[in-house]
Amino acid sequence: KQYLNKHLATAKPSATYKVMDRVAALRAAGINIISLCAGEPDFDTPEHIRTAAIAAINGGHTRYTQVAGTRALREAVASKFRRENGLDVQWQDTIVCSGGKQVIFNALAATLNEGDEVIVPAPYWVSYPEIVQLCGARPVVVPCGEDSGFKLTAEKLAAAITPQTRWLILNSPSNPTGAVYSRAELQALAQVLLANPHVLVLSDDIYEHLLFDDQTFFTLAQVEPQLQARTLTMNGVSKAYAMTGWRIGYATGPHWLLEAMEKLQGQQTSGASAISQQAALAALTGPQDFISSSREVFETRRDRMVRQLNEMPGLSCAQPGGAFYVFVCCEELLGKTSPAGKLLASDEDVALALLNEAGVAVVQGSAFGLAPYIRIAYALDDASLLQACAAIREFCTAVM
Ligand code: PLP
Repeated sequence: KQYLNKHLATAKPSATYKVMDRVAALRAAGINIISLCAGEPDFDTPEHIRTAAIAAINGGHTRYTQVAGTRALREAVASKFRRENGLDVQWQDTIVCSGGKQVIFNALAATLNEGDEVIVPAPYWVSYPEIVQLCGARPVVVPCGEDSGFKLTAEKLAAAITPQTRWLILNSPSNPTGAVYSRAELQALAQVLLANPHVLVLSDDIYEHLLFDDQTFFTLAQVEPQLQARTLTMNGVSKAYAMTGWRIGYATGPHWLLEAMEKLQGQQTSGASAISQQAALAALTGPQDFISSSREVFETRRDRMVRQLNEMPGLSCAQPGGAFYVFVCCEELLGKTSPAGKLLASDEDVALALLNEAGVAVVQGSAFGLAPYIRIAYALDDASLLQACAAIREFCTAVM
């Protein structure tokens, strides 16, 4: 007999980790796979940040910190929110967690009860609905197709809100589509939210700095300050500073919520790694030129990827405004057969055939709540991307 928690028993394991496991197994068998499924920059963490971490180890920053993070890092986080997002934030209004993912988990676990609803626009980051479910609440998935730029509109939001709605989750730039909400689009959503004071908002800004075409980044609490009292604005160092393995995320929001999150974290992981906190401090307070140089690299790759993908038979994609993903429609491939004779009935079949027959790993759109698409992450060097595109083109040409 197994004694699984009932919410865990019905939760799905992360679809992206599942594909990555499959890639690892094929590679272990000696098969060459190009992975376009990683959700992380391919660069090394900048040197001054690594140096700060080594100094932290040698300087005795090797003990427990306060649960909500060191005072120095929380000051730096508050200063970041003031400087970059125009939010009126002091250090007491912040929390530091072990990754942005823990921020989200803490916030939802600290607030959700049985019967509560959380509005999750689709396509969504795979973890949102699963975390909601783990907390015993119900994800209300709102499909947002390519016709609306993969974005939630005010009308759709208004229609999805019920008396049971506890949270709305927003993510811009988006994983998996790279879609970016403009100030006007956020203002339109804010109008609906102002009329529904029982709804909290989780603004996942983790891809803030991966924003192309000289766009300006806006976050909801900045666009509508009246919403700051019920918005958790979340961010982290993973994507901005190529620090996915350091596990530092942070947020600002109302005191009652931050206190609840701290209480939960105090019984779970305690403060984030002391060494990583010193590294994150160096990231937020040190030179920021890494941000613009990595943005330039990603923007060039995006242009090249989108152009090449749109030239391939059977595939089409819109130009994403941020992050490092392209969400590619593969509808024309469906109903046809792969070079090895497999029927391509779904986007999952397409992803599997691309992996087994073309040696390219991508994640099916259905894992993100919208089919038939494949998500391509271009956080990889130019030579590998070129090679991947050649393999995908050959595959598509054979299918069509
Ligand atoms: N939010 C989104 C949309 C993400 O894609 C990710 C990572 O893939 C995270 C949050 C969590 O990042 P981390 O836990 O590394 O801070």
